[in-house]
Amino acid sequence: MTIDPAAETARWLATMSPEETARAVSYTQGGHWLLLWGAIVGIVVAWLIIRLGWLSAIRDRLERRRGRPVLVSLVVGIVYLALSFALTLPWAIYENWWREKQYGLTEQPLTGWLTEALMSGAISTLFTALLLVGIYFLIRRARRLWWMWAAGLTAVFVVFGLLISPILIEPLFNTYTPAPNGEVRDAVVELAHKTGTPDDKIYIYDGSKQSDRYTANVSGLFGSARVAMSDVMFAKGADIAEVRGVVGHEMGHYVHMHSLWMTGIVIIMAAVGFWLIDLFYPLARTLLGAKRVGDIQDPAGLPVLAAIGVVLGLLATPAFNTMIRTIEADADHFSLVHANEPDGLSKALIKTAEYRAPSPSAVEEFLFYDHPSVENRVRRAMEWKAEQARANNRR
Ligand SMILES: [Zn+2]
Repeated sequence: MTIDPAAETARWLATMSPEETARAVSYTQGGHWLLLWGAIVGIVVAWLIIRLGWLSAIRDRLERRRGRPVLVSLVVGIVYLALSFALTLPWAIYENWWREKQYGLTEQPLTGWLTEALMSGAISTLFTALLLVGIYFLIRRARRLWWMWAAGLTAVFVVFGLLISPILIEPLFNTYTPAPNGEVRDAVVELAHKTGTPDDKIYIYDGSKQSDRYTANVSGLFGSARVAMSDVMFAKGADIAEVRGVVGHEMGHYVHMHSLWMTGIVIIMAAVGFWLIDLFYPLARTLLGAKRVGDIQDPAGLPVLAAIGVVLGLLATPAFNTMIRTIEADADHFSLVHANEPDGLSKALIKTAEYRAPSPSAVEEFLFYDHPSVENRVRRAMEWKAEQARANNRR
C-alpha cells in the first residue's frame, strides 16, 4: 500500500469544519496585530509613568535622606513595576481573558483570572526588582561593559527561575498529579523507558481551570524537569496513540535539553538587547520627554529602558519565533522516531489548530508562528508514515 502524504495531510485538515478553520484564522491573525498594539500600549505606559514623575520624586527624596544607591534602585524598581502592572492591567484583561472568552478558549471567571494575574504579578515584581538592583549595581560598577555583566546576571536568574518553577511556582496555580495507573500511564512509562526519560516525572494538571487549549509541556531544568499534560487533552478524548504522539514530542524537548539551548540563546539576545539599550538610551530619553531623568545609571529612567526593550522585543519576534519553531520541529521528529504515531500526533495537532490557524502563508509562519504550522507538522508526520510503509513493503 502506498501512502500519499499530500492527500493524507488534506484529509487531516478536512477534519476541521470550515467554521472552525475560519474562527482559528480570525483568532490567529488578530493575535498578530495584538503584538503591535501591545508594543504601543507598552510605550504609552512608559510615557505615562515618566509624565507622572513619581519615580524621580522618590529618587530625589531617598537621595536627600542619603539613601544608598542600592536602596534607591530597589524602591524605585518596585514602584515602577507595580505602576506598570496596574497601568497595563486593562490591556492584559482584554488580551488574555476577554478575547480568550470571546473565542471560547477559556471558561475561567474574571475574578479567578485576576487573582492569578495578581499572584504572578507579585512574584515577577519580586524577582524582577532583585534583578534590577543587580543590573543597576553593574551599571554603576562596570560602566562601559555593564551590558555583558547584566546578561550574565540575567542568565543566573533565568536558570534559577527554570529550576524552581515546577517546585515552587507552578503548584501555586495548578494541581499536578502523577499520571494514574492504567492504560495511559502504561503507555507513557513504556515510552519513557524507550527514550531514557525518568518515568516518575509524568504529570497531569488541571489546565482546564485556565484554558481550553489542548496542550502539554516540559518545565524545569536538570533534576526538576518534568512532562505535564493538561487535563484538557483527556476532556477532548485523547486516545493512546495521541497521548504517545504528544508525550513523545515533550520527551523530545526533555531528552534534547531544549530549555538549556533556549536559555543560551536568550542570554545572547539579552546581551545584544542590553547593549542596544545602552546605545539608544539618550535618544529614547529625549523622545519620551524625560527631562527629570538622569543618565542610564538613574533608576528613574526605568520606563525609558522599558520602552526601548518593547521596541527591541517586537523587532526580535521573528528571530525568537524561528528559534522556537526549530526546536518544535525537532521535538516532532523525536516523537515520530520514538513513539512512531504519525496519525496519533496528527490527531492531536489538529486539536491545537483552534488556536493556531493550520495553513498560514510562508511569510506569516516565519514572522509570527512559534510552532511550525499544523499543516506542515502534519505533512511531515504523513511523510514519515509513507516512509515507514515503504520500508515495511520492502521487508
Ligand atoms: Zn513542543
